[in-house]
Amino acid sequence: MSEFEGRVALITGGARGQGRSHAVALAERGADIVLCDRCADSPVVPYPLATEADLEETAEAVRATGRRCLTAKLDTADRPAMDELVAQAHAEFGRIDIAVANAGVSVAAPVQSMTEAQWAEAIGSNLTGVFNTVGAVAAGMVERGYGRIVTISSMLGRAGNTNMAAYSASKWGVIGLTKSAALDLAPHGITVNAIAPGNISTPMIHNDFLYGLMRPDLEHPGADDVAPVFQSLHAQPVPWLDPEEITRVVLFFAAEASAHISGTVLPVDAGNAGRVT
Ligand code: NAD
Repeated sequence: MSEFEGRVALITGGARGQGRSHAVALAERGADIVLCDRCADSPVVPYPLATEADLEETAEAVRATGRRCLTAKLDTADRPAMDELVAQAHAEFGRIDIAVANAGVSVAAPVQSMTEAQWAEAIGSNLTGVFNTVGAVAAGMVERGYGRIVTISSMLGRAGNTNMAAYSASKWGVIGLTKSAALDLAPHGITVNAIAPGNISTPMIHNDFLYGLMRPDLEHPGADDVAPVFQSLHAQPVPWLDPEEITRVVLFFAAEASAHISGTVLPVDAGNAGRVT
């Protein structure tokens, strides 16, 4: 029997990037999948977000494994929409056993010129969205006495960086939320753990805006130009990691056997963890 057979997993921000990798890996191991993504750009996020076609592509990849897939276009900052999706998942699949609060955005500006809209977007998507995900799935998990919740923070959830006040604050917040939720849910057979990724090779880092921020000395920097800058954020000599490296840890935390690991933060950041507390 496959490890996650009979389980149902919700993955937010599942249209592409890390979320897609988590969804397909859980499906390959037997889980039915509930996917959501906003599938729309934000006026203050300086790179394109996923599209409805991306979400459908992930759903097709899930169905190709033989598992069922429910999709919704929604913003995780919208609590009623999250509650509705969870209700629909309960109606169609009977349960949600695993939730991966993965949806997130990067906004960048020096704190002295950061706008309220940039702040609100980062906190809304990266912190309130995680709270809404945990809040929406928790009641059903408590009822069944079982749950595995994985939140996605960042190495910037354990440090700061220039231009990153809102992003960093949101990701530090995810860690506080994760630890407190782990304690609230500990009596109910539910674990809550965070992953703190380093640079992961997805459209969040591979875009013209971030490349320009990293190499302001060049007119049209490419991946080779920014690689040394990304690499300097890691301790190991690697500029970015594949999403599958985060998926391995999602699968570990999501496993039934991880029953007594909760309230932890696991960095997957090519050794940068050695530099922070
Ligand atoms: P990505 O941009 O490829 O994927 C993020 C997905 O979330 C996109 O499909 C986007 O449309 C969706 N999304 C964004 N805001 C949403 C919202 N409010 N509601 C619903 N969907 C929303 O980037 P990724 O690297 O796959 O990011 C996944 C997670 O990993 C994010 O939380 C991100 O902050 C975190 N992270 C990424 C890196 C990195 O270097 N890529 C590093 C550390 C942490």
